Amino acid sequence: MSVAWIGLGNMGGPMAANLVDAGTTVRGFDVSEAAAASAAERGVEVVGGVADAVRDADVVFTMLPKGEHVREVLTGPDGVLANIKPGALIVDESTIDIEVARELHETVREAGARFLDAPVSGGVSGAAAGTLTIMVGGAAEDLDEARPLLEVLGGKVVHAGDAGNGQAAKIVNNMMCGVILGVTCEGAVLSERLGLDPTVFHSIAATSSGDSWVLRTWYPSPGVVESAAVNRDFEGGFSVALLHKDLGLAVNAGESTGTPLPFATQARDAMASLLDAGLANKDCTVLVKQVGGTLETPSSH
Ligand code: NAD
Repeated sequence: MSVAWIGLGNMGGPMAANLVDAGTTVRGFDVSEAAAASAAERGVEVVGGVADAVRDADVVFTMLPKGEHVREVLTGPDGVLANIKPGALIVDESTIDIEVARELHETVREAGARFLDAPVSGGVSGAAAGTLTIMVGGAAEDLDEARPLLEVLGGKVVHAGDAGNGQAAKIVNNMMCGVILGVTCEGAVLSERLGLDPTVFHSIAATSSGDSWVLRTWYPSPGVVESAAVNRDFEGGFSVALLHKDLGLAVNAGESTGTPLPFATQARDAMASLLDAGLANKDCTVLVKQVGGTLETPSSH
């Protein structure tokens, strides 16, 4: 089976590399030279554009920032739909608006191909380890076809239902993650100010009612959790810009369904203030600096 991968960033790079390690030939493309070079080092056959990547592919994966990028990569003049084999399967792993995902299901079907919305959870550490949870919206028979590849990328592959339901599950999940991140940053700062050693407090919370995936994977005090971005000056990981996007999608979904979401709204506004501080590309756990009052912004230098 021939696979194409468009978007080789923090998530797409290691995911494509896992397919290569499992023996699949992956032809990839990214507009960022750095992302493309790093995927090439991991064995992805990097080519110069979307058309070259997808021409012979049976399955095309996309892992791009937002809905507008996925729409452009799929429907643009040199995009996926203009160049794929008839009947090819497109699997979008990005987190995008439910409405855009449903629109793309329709557009792809009209173009004679097939589409699954298949966003993931588990962060860059889960992408690297191949332990992501993958939530899939679309036809069950298309998922059956993609499943052997998805099982290389993730430890759990769930059929969430019809077109767009993968994105619906992902947006609600990330809303919960964003709110838990906010209070975990507050807990990390407050516990230290109350005189607790960060490692000791973390080990208590991890087996108490304050436990969460954010606590175990992203704990924002240095030297406590190896996978946490605080240990890498908040580089890589899950960016402020992307969490802001996801919380905005959740708040919009709250409005369209008449569901009040005060916690999610506050978490979105916290990410917006980090964007205003020029921190769009830092990992979202940089929020801990704002809570602790130690945020150095480009304008404060
Ligand atoms: P990223 O910014 O690191 O990667 C996106 C890549 O897409 C970049 O390398 C960019 O150059 C590339 N790109 C943009 N436009 C392109 C185009 N037209 N053609 C080819 N390449 C293009 O982002 P990421 O962290 O890998 O996240 C990707 C998606 O996964 C987002 O929707 C995000 O919300 C979701 N996600 C991220 C995480 C995480 O922890 N980082 C976890 C789960 C889901």
